[in-house]
Amino acid sequence: MSSMSDWEPVIGLEVHAHLKTRTKMFCRCELEYGAPENARTCPVCLAHPGALPVANGKAIELTIALGLALGCEIAERSVFARKNYFYPDLPKGYQISQYEAPLCGPGELVVQTAGGSERVGIVRAHLEEDAAKTVHAGGATGRSVGADYSLVDFNRGGTPLLEIVSEPDIRSAEAALRYLRLLRQTIVELGVSDAEMEKGTMRADVNVSVRKRGEEGYRPRWEIKNMNSFTFIGRAIEAAVRQQVAAHEAGEEVGQSTYDYDPDTDRLTAHRSKEEADDYRYFPEPDLVPMAPPAELVARLRAAQPELPAARIARYADAIGFERADELVMTGNEANAVLLVGAGLDLDTAATVSMNQLAGRALPAGNAAPLAEVVRAGNLTREALNAAFAAATERPIDAAEFLAQTAVSDESALAPAIDGVIAAHPDQVATYLGGKEGVLGFLVGQVMRETGGKADPAVVNRLLRDRLRT
Ligand SMILES: [Zn+2]
Repeated sequence: MSSMSDWEPVIGLEVHAHLKTRTKMFCRCELEYGAPENARTCPVCLAHPGALPVANGKAIELTIALGLALGCEIAERSVFARKNYFYPDLPKGYQISQYEAPLCGPGELVVQTAGGSERVGIVRAHLEEDAAKTVHAGGATGRSVGADYSLVDFNRGGTPLLEIVSEPDIRSAEAALRYLRLLRQTIVELGVSDAEMEKGTMRADVNVSVRKRGEEGYRPRWEIKNMNSFTFIGRAIEAAVRQQVAAHEAGEEVGQSTYDYDPDTDRLTAHRSKEEADDYRYFPEPDLVPMAPPAELVARLRAAQPELPAARIARYADAIGFERADELVMTGNEANAVLLVGAGLDLDTAATVSMNQLAGRALPAGNAAPLAEVVRAGNLTREALNAAFAAATERPIDAAEFLAQTAVSDESALAPAIDGVIAAHPDQVATYLGGKEGVLGFLVGQVMRETGGKADPAVVNRLLRDRLRT
């Protein structure tokens, strides 16, 4: 009898991201999220006869920049092709994409998981144009099936789209999500795309199959298209693995097909459409010359590459561990931590402060030094610390205004409050003496209250323990 652990998931991802250009891929229509329907169109993106495309140079630069970040080979000669199919959101009857000669060739992205680092090969990254948006009206589901009528908004038609195709190197839902988050962070930091899944500026097609551990080659895969939520991508992968393992073990045939994930049932069902033979009759786009990115352009973009998130996470991980390093970069609290480290805090303390007390708020550079001084002081009241953290992102601060508020750590000054609390809470004292150490926290809290929060909790803790030692 075999079990889930005998099987290995095989996952590949195709990520689409809208490029952050001012205009569309092959015309000068401006890209504007939320513009009135069909207000951003022209003869080129509406495919009027005789209209000719001109490739967007900025889109090409952004694609090369991402390709370099993924260690891809940048093609010396790249060709646009026509991908022919008929659909109402595609007025030309073909999409201009890249097929045989993509702009960016093989590369890789290394992701860290609980099981160590996993190398995910990148097959290619290429440029294409997005289709228009179809809106199905009426009917119960908002889907094409059962709709009363459908409308097309051509504003999105012709938006530059970057497609990044991974090798089927990913072996768990966790690794898939790590890959997607790291890729997204890289895309956003390079200014390639806003990559906001909820706005549809990033989406992913997920390919999943399973095989017996040690088995060579791949079994038929299921393709789950147009996923726009990390949570659902993770669940869909796990559901696909469960269903495929069950089918293989029951001796059922698992075919290669497109599936839809239903979050309500947590199951995948075969996409209800006719079996499409993917014959797009690709051929080189005759209206566009091949691209030959100049070596100087590639060199300039390479020189302009910042230190990438994966490299920074690896660098921080030495000091604070991978999980915290990953969280620091992915939550956007890294900039504050870098400022505080620059002001002399160690990375561990700076990361803690940035991800907790300052989380989600930007620290002005000028406040880094005084705040670091306040944090380093180590003897301030909790109120003073909290006030400093609150003020640090609101207005210019001076360390002196907080440093005077030192916590009372003088034993003789604290003795009356400690004696008073012990006398006032005989039951809790008895419980503590009976072995329930946790009660000490309550007694410390009472002393803090007695002293108006000005006592040093570590000293109070020690004094209480000394006083109650039998
Ligand atoms: Zn246009």
